Amino acid sequence: MLLGDPIAHSLSPAIYTRAFERWTEEDRPSYNAWRVTPERLSATVADLRAHAQVLGGNVTIPHKEAIVPLLDGLDERAKQIGAVNCFVRHGDRLIGCNTDVPGLLAVLERAGRNGGRAVLLGAGGAARACAFALAVLCKYELTILNRTVARAEALAGAIWKAGGRANAAPLQTAAALHALGDTGVLVNATSVGLGNPHAAPIDLRGAVTNAHCVIDLVYEPLETALLAAARATGATCIDGLEVLVEQARASINAWFGDRASVVTSEQLRGAALQVHARRGER
Ligand code: NAP
Repeated sequence: MLLGDPIAHSLSPAIYTRAFERWTEEDRPSYNAWRVTPERLSATVADLRAHAQVLGGNVTIPHKEAIVPLLDGLDERAKQIGAVNCFVRHGDRLIGCNTDVPGLLAVLERAGRNGGRAVLLGAGGAARACAFALAVLCKYELTILNRTVARAEALAGAIWKAGGRANAAPLQTAAALHALGDTGVLVNATSVGLGNPHAAPIDLRGAVTNAHCVIDLVYEPLETALLAAARATGATCIDGLEVLVEQARASINAWFGDRASVVTSEQLRGAALQVHARRGER
């Protein structure tokens, strides 16, 4: 299940339900979205722990940090990040992990990127996982740009403590271009563009080239203004649905181990695109 509030917009139940069609009917898992308010989170986690048939689940806004002390432990990566988007049953314990990180790593790998300079737009929950993936695990030289600069500075500080290199600056086009260099990766982890195909966090028109890679975590709409501007320059573009799908795949791995191999990223992407298109028709 997915715990969050609000939850109605989530594509995850439809994506996982399609993925689990690969299981035989007798042992097919189910996945539902549960709207859980912050006041109910503690009781909900206790309830899930008590039900042995619950193998795990996902957590989204606003619970990714609040759930940490309610779980029975975290894996090493989630400990470092301080945020959890996935939990897994180990006997009678629920252990937190973070599959947003392997989600981003998978799309970077597919784009053939493995280091250099990176610019991260945003300093919220999603940006935190991206910053660790980029600067700590992949050793990118990271610049974090955020509307509220103090939040970018705090995140950059956490990255240094974890052994990565990051600096912070205001959310401005000039700062992004300077930090990107000739070949860097730019990741949008702000919510700018969500629900608005004309809004972009910075102006990329004519500013990036086909040597850059631009990733937008926003997937509603799929083609954001930021991605459209980047695509027009020939940059490698990755949409938010690709990252979501890889995160889902990493979650399925965490829950089912070897049995997860029946599900491929392509199947998940196909399911995600179908659900996304159906939603657009409404
Ligand atoms: P969050 O914690 O609320 O952070 C929001 C970020 O957006 C903050 O950095 C905030 O800046 C910035 N922001 C919001 N409005 C802005 C504006 N008008 N101008 C400039 N900056 C603005 O949210 P989140 O959980 O990190 O999620 C961020 C986005 O990523 C959402 O669109 C979410 O749907 C998407 N997401 C996608 C995936 C995926 O798998 N594709 C996974 C997770 C999240 P301040 O600090 O200044 O407020």
